[in-house]
Amino acid sequence: MSQGSDPELLSFASDLIEQRGGLVECLPDRVLALLPPVLAETLGLPEETPLGGEETPLLYGSPVLDRLVAVATGQAPVVYGQIGVPYLKKAGFGELIGHDLIFVDGQVRVATRAEARTTYLVLTCRYVALSDERKEGLVQVGVHEASGAVVEGLESVWTEGQPHFFPSGMVPPHFPVKLEHVVSCAMESARNGIEQELADFLGSMRRRLHRDVKNTREYYEALKKEMEASLSHPNLTEGQRQERLSKIMDLPAEMARKVEDLKQKYQVDITITACAGLRLLVAIAQVMLEVRFRKLTRSVRVIWNPLTRRLDPLVCERCHNTIRKIHPAATDQRIELLCFRCAQRR
Ligand SMILES: [Zn+2]
Repeated sequence: MSQGSDPELLSFASDLIEQRGGLVECLPDRVLALLPPVLAETLGLPEETPLGGEETPLLYGSPVLDRLVAVATGQAPVVYGQIGVPYLKKAGFGELIGHDLIFVDGQVRVATRAEARTTYLVLTCRYVALSDERKEGLVQVGVHEASGAVVEGLESVWTEGQPHFFPSGMVPPHFPVKLEHVVSCAMESARNGIEQELADFLGSMRRRLHRDVKNTREYYEALKKEMEASLSHPNLTEGQRQERLSKIMDLPAEMARKVEDLKQKYQVDITITACAGLRLLVAIAQVMLEVRFRKLTRSVRVIWNPLTRRLDPLVCERCHNTIRKIHPAATDQRIELLCFRCAQRR
């Protein structure tokens, strides 16, 4: 048996890798792992890697084991990277207005364009939905860190930008220090994504609940009828009659208890945890728009994102929900950019 093949450590590593969305093949003396990119970066390993063999021994005190332990015990591990792109769109932004960003009212004109850099967070969340059955999986969400706007599709295209990852201690100061708001936006969006992903599962639980409740009601209806009919039996003593009557009286409460049990059985509890964060510094084209609404004008800074190849969405200036359809509103002599719901509530 080769060095570094402690079965307990191998099983710890393979469980952890699977939990974080990787694939493993367990051999007697090592594990062949296919790691998700973020985890590979965190562990400082290639995406396809053997663990526990001669090259990457899994021993107490070995760097790989230390990093695995940090992943298992720490908060969501975060890696930092940078994406530079060979080409940033130079013109034609006006055509994207009405497509990537729709202003439902007012006039919009592109004023200036500049090259800049901004930061995004790609958060990987793990979910476990527990009910009569168990479902689990991973979802990823991309969020613009400065605004909290959810950039749909970013989570699947960032790899094409071939990021260069910063070693720990060498991360440049461009990343905002406070991340709570961005993480909560990402988690919120992950929750929506998970509910969509689980729609079939949630629907099937609802249908099974409905079916079982219906069957239970029918069963108690039939039972009640049967017991009522038996009351007229000629040989029934008064005592037996009273006993049956009281049983009939108890039926509704008994049925309600059974229905409550069924509701508990099919109730779906969804737990979502952030399990890895990737923060990217990305070269972007920053476009200034001039928005005119009634007699007011205002500049609005928008981002052309080279990874998604479109303008990033904005956020509603009241509720901070991500929007691509923008409802300008005149508030205290200035233009506010709102979502449909906030615009209706004014
Ligand atoms: Zn709003």
